[in-house]
Parts: sequence; C-alpha cells; structure tokens
Amino acid sequence: MNVKLIGFTPDPEKLPAMAAKLTHSKTKPEDLDKSSDKELKNILEYVMNLGHTSVIEHTNFTFAISDVSRVLTHQLVRHRIASYAQQSERYNQFFEKEINELKEQNEKYKIEKKRRKECKLSLGDEYRICDEYKGGSSSIELGEKFNCNPETILNILKFHGENVRGNNESVVNHNFFDSINNHLKAQILGVLFADGFIGNYNENYLAGIKLQESDKEYLESMREIIGLKRPVYCFPSKEEKYQNLYQLSISSKRIYSNLKKYGIKKGKRDPPKNIDKEFLNSFILGFFEGDGSIGKCSDYKYWLTFVSISHEFLEFIKKAIDSSCEVNNVKILKKKTAYYLSWQSKKDIEKILAWMYKDINLDFVMKRKFYKSCELYKDIDNLRKRLILERCNQYNTIIPDSILSNIRASDIYMNAQDELTRSYITCCGMGVKAEDSRFILPQSFKTNIIVTMNARSLLNFFALRCCLHAQWEIRQLANNMLQEVKKIAPTIFKKAGPACKSKGICPENKKDCPLYPK
Ligand SMILES: Cc1cc2nc3c(=O)[nH]c(=O)nc-3n(C[C@H](O)[C@H](O)[C@H](O)COP(=O)(O)OP(=O)(O)OC[C@H]3O[C@@H](n4cnc5c(N)ncnc54)[C@H](O)[C@@H]3O)c2cc1C
Repeated sequence: MNVKLIGFTPDPEKLPAMAAKLTHSKTKPEDLDKSSDKELKNILEYVMNLGHTSVIEHTNFTFAISDVSRVLTHQLVRHRIASYAQQSERYNQFFEKEINELKEQNEKYKIEKKRRKECKLSLGDEYRICDEYKGGSSSIELGEKFNCNPETILNILKFHGENVRGNNESVVNHNFFDSINNHLKAQILGVLFADGFIGNYNENYLAGIKLQESDKEYLESMREIIGLKRPVYCFPSKEEKYQNLYQLSISSKRIYSNLKKYGIKKGKRDPPKNIDKEFLNSFILGFFEGDGSIGKCSDYKYWLTFVSISHEFLEFIKKAIDSSCEVNNVKILKKKTAYYLSWQSKKDIEKILAWMYKDINLDFVMKRKFYKSCELYKDIDNLRKRLILERCNQYNTIIPDSILSNIRASDIYMNAQDELTRSYITCCGMGVKAEDSRFILPQSFKTNIIVTMNARSLLNFFALRCCLHAQWEIRQLANNMLQEVKKIAPTIFKKAGPACKSKGICPENKKDCPLYPK
C-alpha cells in the first residue's frame, strides 16, 4: 500500500481559524487574515475543544492511494462526504501481453483465405489443425472433425513444418531432456532418479514415474511442464490401507535415450552424469522429493534422510551438500538392503533445505515435503511467503497476512488466484470486453484511487477506521493518512484517531479491547 498526500488547502489551519473567528466577532470576513497567527491558533484550539467542527470543512486534503485491494475501496467509498477517482477496470486491460498472444492466435484461426484454390480447408482451419495436433489430437480425430481424410491432415501438418509423430509416440516435448539447462529440469531429473523408470519394449521406448495419490498434483504439474498430453494413470490399491498409485508414462525414444545418457537405468543408480554444478541443488531436491524424508519426533529430534540402494549415489549427494552447505560430517549407514544418509542437527537440516529449495518454482514442488519443511523451519517458510508474494504481484492481487501465514489457506488462495487469472485472460483473449471479463477478477485485485476529504469528514473517517475493530487494510490506510495530515494540521488532528481516543467512547462496546476507555 502506498499513501501520499498530494494536495491540500493552502494554510490548512488558518482558513478554519478565520471562519471560527468570524462566528464570534464583528470583523469583516475579508479582514480576518490580518489576525495574528497566535490568536487564530487559540481560536482554532478553542472551537476544536468545543466540537464546533463545521469550520474545518473549509480545509481539504487529497490523497493518492495505490496498491490496495478492491475490498478496501468498497469500504472506503462508503464514506460519502468525500470525492473519489478510481482506476478503471474497463479502460485498463490487465495482463495485456498474455491476452494479445491469445488474441493473435484466435485471429489466425479466422483467416478464410485458402493456401491453394483447390484446397478444401481455409488457412485458419489449417493453423487450428496444427495447434490441435500439437495439443494431442490424432490425425484420425482431426480428419473426422474437419471432414477430410487423415492423409490430408498429415499433408497439412507436413506443409506447415510440424513434426509428425510415430505410431506409439506420446505428445510431449521430446527435446525436454536434451540438456539440463535449468533448475526445473534438474529437479525433474532428480525425482526420476529416485522413482522413475525407463524401458524398451519391442522398440516402444518408455520413461515414467509412479507416485502415491497424495502426490498426484505433483505428477500433473510435471506432465504440464514436459508438455505431455497423455493423462496420468491410476493403479487402484488392492488394500484399503494403501493409497492408489498414479503413473505418468511417456513414449519417446529421444526422452528414453536422454534419461539413459544421464544415468537412469534399471535397478541400482550410479551418480548422475553431466549435471551442471549450478543445478545440483535442484537435482538433489528432486531426489529428496522422491526418496528423502524429513520430520521431527520430539522437541530436540529432527531428521533429514536420503535413502538409496546405491552407496555411490549417496556419496555423491553427501559430497554436493558438504561442499555447498557447511554442515557437520555424517556417515552413510546401511540397514538391510538400503543405505541411509541422514542429518539430525536442526541447524544443519535448515541449511540443507535452504540450499535445496532456493531456486524452486511454486508451480512444481512436492507440497507434502515442502510444507512439512515450512512447518519445521522458519527460513523455509519465509521463502514460501516470498514466493507467494511475488506471485500475487504478478497477479496484481493483495494477500492478507492471516492467509499468507497459514500454509494450507495460502495454498487454497493461490489455486483460486491461478484459476481466476487464467479465466480472465482466456475471456479477454476470446474477445470478451474488459468491462465484462472483469467480473471474474477477485476482490483482492489491486487498484489505485485518489480521495479528497475535508478535515471534518477525515475526523469521522479516522474515528471509524483507525479503530482496532476496523478491517486491517482500511485501518492501515487510515493510520497512514492520519500520520500525513498530522504533520500539516496538528491542531485540527490533535485528538484524531479511533473514537475511544477522539471522543472517549467505544461505539463497538468492546470491553476486551486494549484501548477501551477506562
Ligand atoms: C467497523 C465497521 C463495520 C461496518 N460494517 C458495515 C456493514 O456491514 N454494512 C454496511 O453497509 N456498512 C458497514 N460499514 C459502513 C458504515 O455503515 C458507513 O457507511 C461508513 O463507515 C461511512 O460512515 P459515515 O456514514 O459516517 O461517513 P460519510 O458517508 O462520510 O458521512 C459522514 C457523516 O455525514 C452524515 N451523513 C452523511 N450522509 C447522510 C445522510 N444521507 N443522511 C444523514 N446524515 C448523513 C452522517 O452523520 C455521517 O456520519 C461499516 C463501518 C465500520 C467502521
């Protein structure tokens, strides 16, 4: 929230003082400004104490208020003795870049011209065919939809330079793992090292991963990131005490070969090959999401553990953590058939988590483990809050502290914000005017407003909105405004504030309030 006093009546206290003097003297109004400053100040103090506040209506203050929610402005504009100008959601198009991209795409589909005279379909249809094919539709489905032969569809795709898929190949970004050149890819590779698989079944090259039901959202995000159009499959659990399992599987020779190149194979895993040091933290985070655990069993007992059947693999993780996190030396232990790499010092664990999570993207994180880390470690929770605030900034929305500090509530809140923003952009992209699309925007949407109030109206505003029972955002606004005007008109606003302070009464009758008049 930004609050700036951008204008006010010149001599804001002299004018009402002259008006007050007029009511009690025979001096002509045009001569009142000849009165001494001291006399005018005394008169103003006197009438303010009497509560004869109509004279301060002669003084106006104008504030520029930005980055507040519509929740706030709904409340603010209930104050009728004021003038307002608010940023329009009709004349301003938000998310312009994303909307223009969508519009361009939709415009493309409307092109009626044909590539050649004898073509059956318009160029617009051909562009749509290419996009829908890339989106997962088959040439047979598209042939039925556009009433033509699948061969024609394939010819159209070839003409437009689209890659035509092999028979069994998935619709996916086949080049995704060509190089691990960002944190997201390193993280996905890490989780594939823990729980992924590859296989070649009669020239059908597969890669995939199977996780429990509570991680379905994580799998869905992975699916979206790698551009896989095939849904994740459910393997229902045979016993009630176990969760269903979900599998994401990709048919792609290129992805299969790339994963093999990095070191994914059947059974025991060797340390990965060709992972840039810069992305090691995210690779290890991915592995932790698959085969790591974190927890607390008493006030003093914490753990962060990696498990693998490969001693070398854990050696690799230990070396990477030791060289980046300055933590105590720990030993890799063997229990039955697996090896365990575990830290128990709270300080060490926090350092390792901070390093692993430092480059995460909220769109792809295993929430179960991330939220546990946030619950146990303040630094990690601060990281979560920072990422959410950044995302709210992109969505142009305000998030209340009570939601931000509640891990589950903020998750619900952010899902809603994602959905609403996406829907607004889609509607605008379809050509629905901003004045109608804005019906989708949330009340948390940021807005800017200019407000002018006279000093008397401001006193009423402060009495109502500086009160501890006023809603937090408008209370913050009122307190900021009060600070500004006090600097300029100290006599008028000497007693300004919540009604308990300015009037000595509590209109809310909240006896448990710390400010309740004694
Ligand atoms: C804690 C809190 C909770 C609230 N909850 C709700 C709610 O649930 N629902 C809701 O609708 N509103 C709610 N309000 C808003 C409240 O009812 C007022 O509309 C708002 O605070 C503006 O106050 P106001 O009328 O004093 O201010 P202004 O509109 O600026 O008026 C200033 C003063 O001028 C006088 N005045 C103005 N217009 C008239 C008029 N037409 N007739 C006679 N006198 C007039 C009154 O003396 C008034 O106090 C809430 C306000 C607060 C502080």
